[in-house]
Amino acid sequence: MTLALLLKAGEDRLRSAGVGEWRTDAWMLLEYALPVTRKDYLLERGRQAASEEYTRYEALLEKRSRRVPLQYLTGCQEFMGLSFDVSPDVLIPRQDTEILVEECLKFMRSGMRVLDLCTGSGCILLSILKLAQGTEGVGTDLSERALAVARRNGERLGIHAEWLLSDLFEVVGGSFDRIVSNPPYIPTEVIRTLEPEVQKHEPRMALDGGADGLTFYRKITEQSPRYLRNGGMLFLEIGSEQAGEVSALMETHFTNIRIVKDLAGLDRVVYGTVRA
Ligand code: GLN
Repeated sequence: MTLALLLKAGEDRLRSAGVGEWRTDAWMLLEYALPVTRKDYLLERGRQAASEEYTRYEALLEKRSRRVPLQYLTGCQEFMGLSFDVSPDVLIPRQDTEILVEECLKFMRSGMRVLDLCTGSGCILLSILKLAQGTEGVGTDLSERALAVARRNGERLGIHAEWLLSDLFEVVGGSFDRIVSNPPYIPTEVIRTLEPEVQKHEPRMALDGGADGLTFYRKITEQSPRYLRNGGMLFLEIGSEQAGEVSALMETHFTNIRIVKDLAGLDRVVYGTVRA
């Protein structure tokens, strides 16, 4: 079979498995399996695929047809222009989350210390530290395996951060200028309505925000003032329906509360400044 036919077979297979981005995914898996660049593919698409190439591609297609996310197969996802390792132990970094990073960056100054709660792959903390010169940070997660991924990302990208195995603030010490978090925020009952990729393959503990989805926001808005310095700010990613409730939770201890929309025009980030 030629490379062109191999790709065509991949597309058909993913489309019939109900994969939304079947065309892109079939290509990305071919690129990863052989491997082959786009340019080489265009030159070589008439050549016969070697049997190992066929076998490797086939194995990936089989998994993707079971709706394993593409990024768990290729092991990486780009975020804020940086390449992050991912595994099924961490949520795959989302483009929406770049809004959280961008908002926080507007308020970062040299010398500041930032805390990222529920850090997962570490994508939020590491991109802030990379893009805000002269800053330092701590990332926490309840999952040791997630922290291993975050630590590896820091080392690979050459960005220093401190990693703590901690249930939110449990073992956090000291004070911070900025606290950021994209905590689990899906209401428990809603999880089973999500795409198979998310529902069956992403870590449940990274998704489940309790019965009303707000469990983590309650704890974070309540406890973060103790860890924030004067003028300290809290930045939270939210589900698109949660801006009202999360802003209300912030009212008690925060002022100048703002809601920021994502590129789709949906509410995505809430932030505010701790009351003096
Ligand atoms: N903070 C991580 C991210 O945004 C993980 C979020 C989570 O596990 N809910 O990718």
